[in-house]
Amino acid sequence: AEQIRIAIAGHGNLGRGLEAAIAKNPDMSLVGIYSRRPPEQIKPQDAATPVYEIAALKDHTDAIDVLILCGGSKEDLPQQGPEYAALYNTVDSFDTHARIPDYFATVDEPAKANNRTALISAGWDPGMFSINRVIGEALLPDGATYTFWGDGLSQGHSDAVRRVPGVAGAVQYTRPVKEAVDQVRSGARPTLTTREKHKRECFVVLEEGADANKVREAIVTMPHYFDEYDTTVNFITAEELARDHHAMVHGGFVIRSGNTSPANTQVIEYALRLGSNPEFTSSVLVAYARAVYRLNKMGQYGAVTVFDVAPGLLSPKSAAELRAELL
Ligand code: NAP
Repeated sequence: AEQIRIAIAGHGNLGRGLEAAIAKNPDMSLVGIYSRRPPEQIKPQDAATPVYEIAALKDHTDAIDVLILCGGSKEDLPQQGPEYAALYNTVDSFDTHARIPDYFATVDEPAKANNRTALISAGWDPGMFSINRVIGEALLPDGATYTFWGDGLSQGHSDAVRRVPGVAGAVQYTRPVKEAVDQVRSGARPTLTTREKHKRECFVVLEEGADANKVREAIVTMPHYFDEYDTTVNFITAEELARDHHAMVHGGFVIRSGNTSPANTQVIEYALRLGSNPEFTSSVLVAYARAVYRLNKMGQYGAVTVFDVAPGLLSPKSAAELRAELL
C-alpha cells in the first residue's frame, strides 16, 4: 500500500521520539530530518534517513505529505508554524496554553491561502488531556474538571533550579498531592488551591563549597516557579543524578466528576503514566499526522486542533474495520 511520507523539522527530544514512533507505523515512512544545525551534526537512529539543512524545505514540497514541527514552543514554533503551514500540511505540539488562540490565527491564514492543513497543539497536554476535558464537560454539564500532572520531570522547573547560584546540576519532579486526588476521585468536587493540588521535589548537585541552606532557600522562595508550592530539596551526588534521574518520566490525569441527579455522582478519569514524555508525545503526533493527511485530501484546509479531528481518522484501520472490531 501507499505510504504517508513524513518529515521531521527539528531534531531534539521530540524529533528523536518521532523516529521511534514512525518506525512503529507501517503505513508511514520517514523521508527526511530537517535541522537548523549542519546535517553532519545530526545523528539519525537509522543511518539511511536523509538529513537536510532546514532551508531545503522550500524545495521539497512534492516529496513530503506531512511535516511534523518539533521546535520549541517559546522561540521556534511562533516563527516556524506560519512559515511551514504555507508550504506543507503540518502537525505541532505548541504548548504555551495562553498563546494558543493567537498561534492558531497566525497558522490558519497561510494554511488556508495555500490549501494546507495545519494541526496545532497535539500531544498529551495540550492534546489527549484537552480532548478528555471537553468530553467530561459535555457529558457531565453539572460537574467539575480537574487536571493533575505527574509524577513527572518538568523541564522548565529543572532549568530554573539549574540557574540558581551554587547549583551544578538538578532535576525537578512535579507530584500530585494524594489527599487532593482522593478527594476529587470521591466525587466531592473540592475547591483546591495550587499548593493543595501539587508539590515539587528537587534533586540538586551542589557546586564545590556552595552553601546548601542558601541554595535551598533560593529555590523554595523563587517567584512563579516554587513560591506557591510546598517544595522539597534533596542534595545528591553527580553520580546519583546521572544514574537515577535521566528518564523523562511524566504523566497525570484528567478527572471530571459530576451529578446526573442529586442522588447519583459520576466520575470519569483518564490517566497517563509515561516512561518517556517525548516518545509518547511523538506517538500522538504521528497518529495526528495520519489524520491531517486525510483531512487535507477531504479538502479541510487551515488550522485545526485535536477538537476538530474524529477519532477514526487517527487509526490506520478503515471505518468498516473499526465498526467491526472496536465499536
Ligand atoms: P528540545 O529537545 O529542546 O528541541 C527543540 C529544538 O531545539 C529542536 O527542534 C532542535 O532544532 C533544537 N535542538 C535540540 N537539541 C539541540 C542541541 N543539542 N543543540 C542545539 N539545538 C538543539 O525540545 P523538545 O523536548 O523536543 O520539545 C519541543 C516542544 O514540544 C517544547 O516546546 C515542548 O514544551 C513541547 N511539548 C509538548 C507536549 C504536549 O503534550 N503538547 C509534550 C512534550 C513537549 P534544530 O534541529 O533545528 O536545531
